[in-house]
Amino acid sequence: MSDTIKYLLPETDIPKDWYNIIADLPEPPPPVLHPGTHEPIGPDDLAPLFPMSLIMQEVSGERYLEIPGPVRDIYKQWRPSPLFRARRLEKALDTPAKIYYKYEGVSPAGSHKPNTAVAQAFYNAEAGIKKITTETGAGQWGSAMAFAGAFFDIEIQVYMVKVSYQQKPYRRALMESFGAKCYASPSDRTQTGRAILEQDPDSPGSLGIAISEAVEVAAQRDDTKYALGSVLNHVLLHQTVIGQEAIKQMEMAGDYPDVVVGCAGGGSNFAGIAFPFIGEQLRGGQSIRAVAVEPAACPSMTRGQYAYDFGDTGNLTPLTKMHTLGSSFIPPGFHAGGLRYHGMSPLVSHAKELGLLEAVAYHQTPCFEAAVTFARSEGIIPAPETSHAIKGAIEEAMRCKREGKSETILFNLSGHGHFDMAAYTEYFSGKLEDRNYDEQKLSDALAKLPQVAAS
Ligand SMILES: *Cc1c(COP(=O)(O)O)cnc(C)c1O
Repeated sequence: MSDTIKYLLPETDIPKDWYNIIADLPEPPPPVLHPGTHEPIGPDDLAPLFPMSLIMQEVSGERYLEIPGPVRDIYKQWRPSPLFRARRLEKALDTPAKIYYKYEGVSPAGSHKPNTAVAQAFYNAEAGIKKITTETGAGQWGSAMAFAGAFFDIEIQVYMVKVSYQQKPYRRALMESFGAKCYASPSDRTQTGRAILEQDPDSPGSLGIAISEAVEVAAQRDDTKYALGSVLNHVLLHQTVIGQEAIKQMEMAGDYPDVVVGCAGGGSNFAGIAFPFIGEQLRGGQSIRAVAVEPAACPSMTRGQYAYDFGDTGNLTPLTKMHTLGSSFIPPGFHAGGLRYHGMSPLVSHAKELGLLEAVAYHQTPCFEAAVTFARSEGIIPAPETSHAIKGAIEEAMRCKREGKSETILFNLSGHGHFDMAAYTEYFSGKLEDRNYDEQKLSDALAKLPQVAAS
């Protein structure tokens, strides 16, 4: 049998709807609260930041939401994405497990992020919006939004976490090629940015800070809205095209996963692959274990608290209940910039509380080791974020070997690492360090969580 086994779907199998797991959950997620009154907010409270069509998706309880024609049309450029059986990796690990991966690196930006960027740009354009502000960590989200903005004639302004801005000049060039503007965050363009620079001129920045800057700019102008690349319900919803396609592709393979693995920063690519499978389980289908893999230096689900918190460092956003390290927590610098977020998606957090998924955390060195093993057997260089999912999948495969089980493992290869070769260079030179977060700073940040009366 050939070692390269690829499962491709025809264009007509691009999903026609996004899947909303809320319809199948035994309990609805806790309400989103107003930061001042601590009362549940309504759709109008979000109107300064998002077009109403996206807000209605954010609060929807419908199981399926139709994907607009123009969005599906753009999806055709790279969707359905391929699903591979990783036979060479299985052999390299000498495991009885079967390993499959869904490859989202085939998109124009190189990750899963255009799945939601295109949808968000479409709904903003439909609402007459001319400009979108956003943040980016490693640059993947900024690239995706820049690409989507170009297709819908929307100006994109990106606040890029400073440490990544310095590490990844080609990401910035990519965004600018699509016509976007890119600023290092913290910047002197916003009140939040200036306040942080005053306290710490060398601040490496964080996603929480960059979000505050982008939100601050969008809230001030009627023709400008804000877009978030992860965390929110509507973002997770858009990413479910991944899992819905994977269900069909696993069917083509005559197989079904026992374990579904994804890396988790804000939770969107993990939810994108896992929620459709968890939905099947909730509707009486086969059970799976869903495993979210996070970085040990920013471990919101494995070390954080499940509590109401702000989504940003400047505390401009509503309060959501989620696994959080505290909105003032700034993780140490590490290469998987897309995973450096203090919180976890409220919907993923809620699903974890319901026992529908598990979380594990690994340091970056063992993740790079896993990524290199994968690259040498499968020929794809993963993004540093994705290397966490690969480490998680390899750990599962090694467990199967110890236990003599031939389980089926599916993981999401969320993006390629072609713009992250500096990180690989550092790994090969032996200079890559596993930095721990400061325990004292974590307990300080958790002590500052907003006090919300239990309802
Ligand atoms: C942004 C990013 C992530 C992390 O974001 P999630 O919302 O948790 O998916 C993971 N992988 C890649 C390649 C990314 O660009």
